[in-house]
Amino acid sequence: MNSSMIGKIEKAHRYAHEPERIRFSSFEATFRGGHDDYVVHLNNGEWRCSCHTFESHVVGTCSHIMAMQQILGASLADDAKYYGAEATAAAG
Ligand SMILES: [Zn+2]
Repeated sequence: MNSSMIGKIEKAHRYAHEPERIRFSSFEATFRGGHDDYVVHLNNGEWRCSCHTFESHVVGTCSHIMAMQQILGASLADDAKYYGAEATAAAG
């Protein structure tokens, strides 16, 4: 392996410990919930989930989205990180 590749691998190891460098702008994930699998989407800071709680539009978030926000934390833009937070506080 040449030295330039070794340098890139070392940099990747450093970056892997700095999740705040990464901003997810969109993705789709399958979330294995307590009773069923749900599809969680992030698109331009807006979350969607296929579960009943989210689709009922009562609170604007759900346990799957809140869990994703905790897992991805530093890698989410502020609007995605706190999406539904007002509803969460109100339900609180
Ligand atoms: Zn959900």
